[in-house]
Parts: sequence; structure tokens; C-alpha cells
Amino acid sequence: MTGRGRKPDTQVTHLGRDARRFEGAVNPPAYRVSTVLTESLDDYEDPRRRYRRDVMTYGRYGTPTSRALEDAIAELDGGHGTVAVSSGLGAIAKTLLGLLQAGDHLLMVDTVYLPSRRFCDRHLARMGIETTYYDPMIGARIADLIRPNTRVVFLESPGSSTFEVQDVPAIAAAAREAGAVTVIDNTWATPLYFRPIEHGVDVAIQSATKYIGGHADLMMGLITAVEVLEPQVRRAVYELGDVVGSEEVYLALRGLRTLSVRLARHQETGLRLARWLQERPEVERVLHPALPGHPGHELWRRDFDGATGLFGVVLAEPYPREAVKAMIEGMELFGIGSSWGGYESLMIATYPEALRTATRWQAPDPALRIHAGLEDPEDLIADLETGFERLHRAAGD
Ligand SMILES: *Cc1c(COP(=O)(O)O)cnc(C)c1O
Repeated sequence: MTGRGRKPDTQVTHLGRDARRFEGAVNPPAYRVSTVLTESLDDYEDPRRRYRRDVMTYGRYGTPTSRALEDAIAELDGGHGTVAVSSGLGAIAKTLLGLLQAGDHLLMVDTVYLPSRRFCDRHLARMGIETTYYDPMIGARIADLIRPNTRVVFLESPGSSTFEVQDVPAIAAAAREAGAVTVIDNTWATPLYFRPIEHGVDVAIQSATKYIGGHADLMMGLITAVEVLEPQVRRAVYELGDVVGSEEVYLALRGLRTLSVRLARHQETGLRLARWLQERPEVERVLHPALPGHPGHELWRRDFDGATGLFGVVLAEPYPREAVKAMIEGMELFGIGSSWGGYESLMIATYPEALRTATRWQAPDPALRIHAGLEDPEDLIADLETGFERLHRAAGD
């Protein structure tokens, strides 16, 4: 079944399904496969079998289960093809390894997810690939930083922890003009709320661990590329030995079916909490792309179709760590933990100044990072209210 040309709600319901192939079953089954047998030695040795996607050749090169997910995501992303890998970070690392070689230069957004930064600083550096970090708000001025050996410009919009929205079309156009490839981490928006390839980006990556999984029970990354780059990226993933297990793929497909209804609710509750927090005396500002005045808000309005449930909060003063600890640890509905995009609300402290090197962050540390889950928003607000009471009490106010 196809969703081609249809609206996202219809697409997430129908893409990647072919009931006739599976004796009428609505969902493609989880194929548990390593060895795939052939009828003859000639077939086995046929070089045209290598990396084929329309038939199974070996578990590492995909199954009907992974193809169902990959084809659905390729369509949603508007790319030529998608490859599923074992984590979001794995998707970022393998894409960069597939595109870069010794002597190349990488332009990396300064607000990038910290483990992506570590990969560049520790591993790409070791291989003779230089990384320069750039201001997320740079826009078309990225052209000034592009060198003859700049092969990749990497974006993440909105940025991790501080949520600046980038001028993706301007950066993509400048990179293309200079002969560089653009890669974006689109985990926050998912293809339902932002489709980077339509805005000129070459490779769109997302951590399916977050909203596509949606239930805090799987790890996966998805890489979608335009036609000229897809074979290179897919080959890198296959030859670096990455593969995602069928049970994970099955869960991701299951999560995909409800993505649009979940996101609508994450959006609504996230905005509700953000607006409530904005009015609080303990809050200096809320870092949420959908709020007027937020860096890149106008770009968000221009390019995105929605906002998901993750945002930041800058407190009005540098509250002692003990006070912030008392607030967060006493929350009844917000869990403390990495990741986000599941059905449950989360709250952690973040230290944005320590996460950037090319730009400054001037605001009291720590900030808060909140994921608005699918609970009733009134209950979440009541929990936040008592959280602020603990903050004051522990701060000795
Ligand atoms: C979580 C996250 C990743 C990494 O994804 P994993 O599946 O945890 O490896 C990458 N980018 C962003 C923006 C993330 O939030």
C-alpha cells in the first residue's frame, strides 16, 4: 500500500504495508534472519545479489521488515532511500564516515548533540578530518567558513539544549553552491513537522529511539539520502557492519502508525507548559521554537509544520544546585533520564555553556530540559507548581 502524495496522517497509517505479501496480515512480520538459502551455487555467487533490496541475501543487508520501515521513512522524508541502523548516534557516525575522508573539513553546528560532537573531536580528528564549529544562527554567512576541502556541513535544528532554529534553506543553498554536502539531525521535528530534503538538504538523519519508537523501548537511527548520495551512505552502513534487529524494526513500524496523533498531543502539551512557565517569576525565558522572540522562531514558522514536546527553560537566577536538585528529584510525573520522545514526561538539568565552543551562552546554569509527555497537562502543571515550591524552599527563599 502506498501513501504517495497523501497527507502525513494517511502516510503514517499506510506506508510500508503490503498485506498480500503476508497472507493478509496487516503488519509485516518480524523476520528473524541471518542465513538466507539459495537454490544454486550460481545464484549464491551472482554478484548482482550484492546489497540487493528487493530480495533477502543475508540478515545484515535487511529483511522485508526493515524494508517496510525504510521505504515508509524514505517516502515521509521525501528522499530517494532510507537505511535503518542500530542507534541515532550510529546513524550520525556512519553517515559522516561514509562521506568524509582524511584531509576533509567538516562544518558542524555549535549546538549539536553532545555525543555527535565527541565523535567529531575524538574519532574524525584521529582520522585526519578537521571539524570547525559554527554559530547556529549563521544562515547564508556559512559561505564564509566553507573551504576548498569542506566536504560536509552538518546541521541540527533546533539545536540540542538551547533549541535555536537554523536557516536550513540558506545554509543548504550556500553549501551546494560551494560543492559541499549537507547533513541534518532532524530528530526533534521528525519528517511530520519538518522535511529537510524539501529545503535542499542532502541527508536527513533521525534517532528513531525518540518519537518514532515513542515508547522508550527501542534504539534505532534512520538515514535518508538524496539519489546521488544514497548508495554511498548505504554502502558505508553495510560495510561498517551495522544492522538493526527485526524486533526493533517491528516496534518502530508500530510506533510510526501512531506518530501523528502522539506528536499533536506532545505539541499541545509542550506549548501549554511552555506558556505557563513563561509567566512564572522563577523563569527568565523558555527556549521553545514556537514562542515569539525565540532565536529562529520566524524560521520555524516559515519552514516547520509543528513543534514537538522537547524544550528548555532558563531560570531567572543561578539557583544553587541543591535547590534545582530538590525541584527535579521531587517531581512525581517527570522522570530523570536521557532520551525523550516516549509517552512519558522527563526533566533534567542542562549546562549549555559547557556544550559549545564557537559561541557563548550567557544565562544562569543550570537550565532545565523538559519533555512534555502524554499525561494530562493540568496534572503536569500541578507537578511543576510544587516543583517550584521545592526550589524556593531549598534555596532558602
Ligand atoms: C538522542 C539523540 C541522538 C542519538 O540517538 P540515539 O538513538 O540515542 O543514539 C541524536 N541526536 C539527537 C538530537 C538526539 O536527541
